[in-house]
Amino acid sequence: MKRLDGLIEYSSIIPGGIFIYKADETEELIYANDEVLKIFGCNSIEEFKELTGNSFKGMVHRGDLKSVESSISSQISDNDDELDYVDYRIVKKNGDIAYIEDFGRLIHTKDGDYYVVFISDVTKKHNREISYKKQLTKELSERKRYDLLTGLYNRDEFIRKIKSQINKVNNAYVLFINVDNYSNFTDIFGIKEGNNLLIHIADAMDFIGQEYDEVLCARLYNDIFTMFVNECSLEDIEEIVEEIKTVTKDFTSKFDITLSVGVYKIEDKTISVEKMIDYAETASETIKQKYEKKFALYSEEMNEKNRRDQYIVNNMEKALLNNEFCIYLQPKYNIRTNKIIGAEALVRWIRYGEVISPGEFIPLFEKNGYIAKLDLHVLEETCRYIKNRVDNKMKNIPISVNVSRFFFTMNSFIYDITSIINKYGIPKDLIEFEITESMFTATNTIKDKVNELRKLGYKINMDDFGSAYSGLNILKDVDFDIMKLDLKFFQSNDKKAQIIIKAVLNMAKELKIPVVAEGVENKEHLMILRKFGCDYAQGFFYSKPLPKDKFDELLER
Ligand code: C2E
Ligand code: MG
Ligand code: MG
Repeated sequence: MKRLDGLIEYSSIIPGGIFIYKADETEELIYANDEVLKIFGCNSIEEFKELTGNSFKGMVHRGDLKSVESSISSQISDNDDELDYVDYRIVKKNGDIAYIEDFGRLIHTKDGDYYVVFISDVTKKHNREISYKKQLTKELSERKRYDLLTGLYNRDEFIRKIKSQINKVNNAYVLFINVDNYSNFTDIFGIKEGNNLLIHIADAMDFIGQEYDEVLCARLYNDIFTMFVNECSLEDIEEIVEEIKTVTKDFTSKFDITLSVGVYKIEDKTISVEKMIDYAETASETIKQKYEKKFALYSEEMNEKNRRDQYIVNNMEKALLNNEFCIYLQPKYNIRTNKIIGAEALVRWIRYGEVISPGEFIPLFEKNGYIAKLDLHVLEETCRYIKNRVDNKMKNIPISVNVSRFFFTMNSFIYDITSIINKYGIPKDLIEFEITESMFTATNTIKDKVNELRKLGYKINMDDFGSAYSGLNILKDVDFDIMKLDLKFFQSNDKKAQIIIKAVLNMAKELKIPVVAEGVENKEHLMILRKFGCDYAQGFFYSKPLPKDKFDELLER
């Protein structure tokens, strides 16, 4: 026992519990230091002996004993050094559970074999780990239910929650809320500010929803939110929408943030919640950018439009191969001489004799990227038209083609268009490009492309000037050759519009940029333009967009 006596002598100064027990069936304790007693919450060795039955078996929580004993014996038997490490629970004198780490060594003496054991109470560490794990599982399960950015429900949870109560709902509505121009916003202010905007909207929805008994709010994805309101009237919905829109606007005065809201009234509880959201979305799409409308309520006819859209998307590839997309040409006039100075190529889809206007399919093609192919096709049709006139020694005028933002920002844009123009050998002054004002945002890439095109010798028309918010900045930052004044100015009859037309024309004159006024429909429009010194115009007053042969006739007159 000599070796053990030495240990016992010093065990009072070792930071941790030390005890010794017989390595036999009895596991009888022969020593425990004060630290062990403390760990077990005992005030004396007598108390400790009574609590444990004076054996190692009695120290270990009954639930852990079997595994601890077998773990020790297996570690000892395959370990030359005869060390073991185990952890287990103990029951303290006051009944509390503590967590113990135990390092043991088997000692052989002439009086027999003993285990010398060092233990430490790791309850605190254990609890920390447990609470961390709990936190982790909690977060994981929340991640499954909530949208991490805004704290609203996510799509799955929103759908699940409505499904679970669908039989009980009465006078309930599903709202689809979409931020207009969100990508413009992030282009200008950055993703982080975009996220702040989304959080702001989510908070507004959450807060406003609290006034009603049964409301669920969720973010579906990106800048798209949804809301479910039970037991309410359409007037309530109107109020909710108005409040959300107002609070949303408060986010910043530097950008006009508007929402498109579609509403579906749950009439038929047998349709899926997903479909209800789709219906609300369909409704929201009917009022995109129509600021004066608060929201749109879903109706069957809207679904008709959806079917029509689907039809267009399903048939576009075939239509291109079948040459169903053709160009109509609308002349541009010098309003002093009444001479045609150019034309704009406008695409039409002619399907079984029906003329489908670009307003119907271009927004769809912009969404699915098909617009790039179409724009290139229109350019090719235009080149073919000009080439034919050149070959037949007929008079030629410059023709402008519209390019979408999608196509314009593609890396291959310049290569694609020059390939076509060169293929037909069209002189550079007979082709112009129209890009719309709303294409411009804070990104410099568009500006650079404009400069590149101009360097190549092509004229750039700024289309729809005055239709978006960024007009004046563009004027400052981007060089273009021709400004096309948005036809909206003629559609409103008030004095203000006239003042703006006048100011824009003056400004353009000073900048030495020629202006083509669009949408000139009558003599009054023309008078205004003459009065304010505009030189060029395009519109129904002169001519509607015409098919090629009709346009030929017009040019021959
Ligand atoms: P835009 O480039 O501003 O073209 C002018 C639009 O105004 C044309 O509509 C034209 O028909 C219409 N318009 C002309 N004069 C008058 C008028 O006096 N009164 C009224 N109310 N409207 C007039 P359209 O042909 O329906 O085209 C609509 C828009 O679709 C175009 O606006 C253009 O942005 C786009 N678009 C047309 N063809 C193409 C194309 O090939 N590619 C791309 N990316 N966009 C195109
Ligand atoms: Mg145009
Ligand atoms: Mg225009």
